[in-house]
Amino acid sequence: MTTSDMTADGTADEGPESRRLDGNAAAGPLRELFSVDIIAAACTCAHCGGTTALAEHVLYADAPALVLRCPSCTGVVLRYASAGGQARLDLTGARLLVLDLAHDGRPG
Ligand SMILES: [Zn+2]
Repeated sequence: MTTSDMTADGTADEGPESRRLDGNAAAGPLRELFSVDIIAAACTCAHCGGTTALAEHVLYADAPALVLRCPSCTGVVLRYASAGGQARLDLTGARLLVLDLAHDGRPG
């Protein structure tokens, strides 16, 4: 699957010839994603459909977890917390994140 196969409505065109692999096969591509500065990503809000850079979202620092809300509709798009040696990331409110990658796989 490439990014062009994924649409803003959260679906992906897997095609009839798609192979089904163990989730471990996603480790490489996901390592590329989570090694970048995610705050530069353009985020499509699952609540209102608006697209805004994560850096322009509203952070509620007093919440028990880090909570980023959409600047248009105030819907929660991202929650993050770490405790006890575990990190928890909830992107339920983010329909799509788009990051520009340079040719070497780093953000550019
Ligand atoms: Zn929104």
